[in-house]
Amino acid sequence: MYKNLVELFEENEGKGAVGAFNLHCFEMLPSMIHAAEELQVPIIIQTSLGTAEYIGFEPLIAAVKALAEGSSISVCLHMDHCKSVEALKKAIDLGYSSVMYDGSSLPMEENIKNTKEVVAYARAHHVSVEGEIGAIGGAEEGVVVAQNEAAYTKPEDALYYVDQTDVDALAVAIGTTHGQYKSKAKINYELLDELKAKLGSVGLVLHGGTGVSDEDMKRCVREGMKKINVGTELNKSYIEEVNASFPGATPLTSLRKLFTPANEHIKRIILEKASLFKL
Ligand SMILES: [Zn+2]
Repeated sequence: MYKNLVELFEENEGKGAVGAFNLHCFEMLPSMIHAAEELQVPIIIQTSLGTAEYIGFEPLIAAVKALAEGSSISVCLHMDHCKSVEALKKAIDLGYSSVMYDGSSLPMEENIKNTKEVVAYARAHHVSVEGEIGAIGGAEEGVVVAQNEAAYTKPEDALYYVDQTDVDALAVAIGTTHGQYKSKAKINYELLDELKAKLGSVGLVLHGGTGVSDEDMKRCVREGMKKINVGTELNKSYIEEVNASFPGATPLTSLRKLFTPANEHIKRIILEKASLFKL
């Protein structure tokens, strides 16, 4: 079934966090959904605006919907870290079931104003919205998402932002970094506890999941994280696999066979990660 984020949270209540995995190219998509199907867990397929434009909004949305409708699990298609309200309206119009408006680099009031506009538009289309407050550092797809790696989310700011915008989910900065794959993050659990206590029912989202140890991942799930993003690890592993398979290819080797090991690796990673997200 094709669903929005709120529906996934409801369905997964008491069962842990829902995994959100970044799609970087079309070839990865079926393996991602097959992994979730094998585990019988819901899955969030998320893309950057760049990936949506690269594949094309319509073919991407049609493929995710077709795979979701043919599957026994719930699938959400989410636009990750988008700073353009207009681009999000386009994504909503064309059929994304969930979007993230990232106004974290803007002054608070401007972030709130834009987020409210996205929430109003999304609600009218049965689409869920994730917002961000504080800045999760690091770079994704070579784009620096935030300069200051220590810009933790302030609980009082988060409460004000959620009250004002009524977002369904909130990305919080508690020590993780985008694009981190060589080392592991040091999570600020005190802050997580405080955010959880203050924010109640809004779904807290952990970004930069690649840089989180298995032990910390399990603890974050136990402590109430509702959505966990994993992007870099999929991209990194895909590159490693195609780097290994392409050099031995001849012009007559089917491209399909060159992508298969990478697709299988993606499936294994999602099986491993999504198992950690279960309570
Ligand atoms: Zn992120």
